[in-house]
Amino acid sequence: MRRSVVVVTGGTRGIGAAIARELAASGCDLVLSYRSNADAATALRAELLGLGASCELVQADVTVDGDIERLFDGALARFGRIDGLVNNAGATMHIGPLAETPADVVRAVIELNLTAAVLCARRAVQLMSTRLGGAGGVIVNISSGAATLGSPGEYVHYAAAKAGIDALTVGLAKELGPEGIRVVGVAPGTIRTEIHADAGDAGRPDRVAARVPLGRAGEVGDVAPIVAWLFGPGAAFISGTTIRVAGGA
Ligand code: NAP
Repeated sequence: MRRSVVVVTGGTRGIGAAIARELAASGCDLVLSYRSNADAATALRAELLGLGASCELVQADVTVDGDIERLFDGALARFGRIDGLVNNAGATMHIGPLAETPADVVRAVIELNLTAAVLCARRAVQLMSTRLGGAGGVIVNISSGAATLGSPGEYVHYAAAKAGIDALTVGLAKELGPEGIRVVGVAPGTIRTEIHADAGDAGRPDRVAARVPLGRAGEVGDVAPIVAWLFGPGAAFISGTTIRVAGGA
């Protein structure tokens, strides 16, 4: 059987790396982008090769138009087509009330978590849409529980960007259903990754755990199998919705 080729942005650390492992284990080949951590990317690639997957790494800042082009060109050069995209690259960057968040941080957060994801989806659609000569495919947008909680005092602009992702999922699913593409969102709650330390608050998962009905922060292994499942036949009639993986929060 033909192996699906899936592009995972930010697919070399955290949730994205766990998604890459699950997809490789389920028989997909991978194109993984990262921004700067080449060591993490190289180590993961070796692991995925051990699982029998082919894997192309592309250094690409998804907030740069030319880098998005280079990412998808790299996928085409290696595999000749793509069958899926996981819009995963994201960051919170800073934690605090909006009034105390620098304007350039607000712009950067929205640029990365919303605009870049829209533009990656756009490029993937150009390659996968049956109307445009492609073979169809699947787009999974990684949202956040923040999209509906609003994240007051922490990062309302990030929450607003992720709410935009949820709208993207709804609209694109309607636009692309007739063109052979399913679009689904996955909204994790607080998950233990480096995203929190990178925003200056390594202890955040432990702090919020008490507010989670299931009594703990999530792990990447709580999210990744759901994403991989969305690429398989069991999810063939799922599109235009966002699945919350947040322990009841
Ligand atoms: P992470 O561990 O910090 O990993 C982020 C990944 O994104 C890395 O591979 C990083 O590349 C890449 N990246 C960051 N900025 C980029 C850019 N400008 N261009 C390209 N790649 C970039 O984060 P995570 O926790 O796994 O988060 C993954 C997704 O889940 C994000 O969309 C996040 O918003 C969402 N999410 C996370 C949580 C949580 O609690 N962890 C909760 C809800 C939603 P480098 O390795 O090169 O830096």
